[in-house]
Amino acid sequence: MKSYVEKRVICIICPRGCEIRVRLVDGKIISVEGYSCPMGKKYAEQEVCSPKRVLMTIVRCENGDLPVVSVKTSGPVPKDKLLEISRYLAGIKVKPPIRIGDVIIRNVLDLGVDIVATRPCMPVENKYSDQK
Ligand code: SF4
Repeated sequence: MKSYVEKRVICIICPRGCEIRVRLVDGKIISVEGYSCPMGKKYAEQEVCSPKRVLMTIVRCENGDLPVVSVKTSGPVPKDKLLEISRYLAGIKVKPPIRIGDVIIRNVLDLGVDIVATRPCMPVENKYSDQK
């Protein structure tokens, strides 16, 4: 017996926020309706089959002017890998100086994306002298 499923996805690519309906039979997409442009169709298909997200989190910073540095993935990663990446990053400590855009981890968990800093962290003693 075949399984029919309809999923509704709100497209977040632009502010219009189209509501897109994706129908699947036995896990395979048979129709996509409600999108207003090709980007929305592609987004909805990906959201249903393999959703991805950009992860934003923090890593600990040793002897820095801040105890943590905010970081993000350089691109979207599979949603089901977010927890695994977060756990991995929980065990990481970085050393200052860290500048915005610095790669903290290259190719994290072999996912093809890097972890990059989104906030600077300076050594405590250089907090003010390094900002000139
Ligand atoms: S389907 Fe196209 S028009 Fe609609 S929200 Fe997505 S990007 Fe915007």
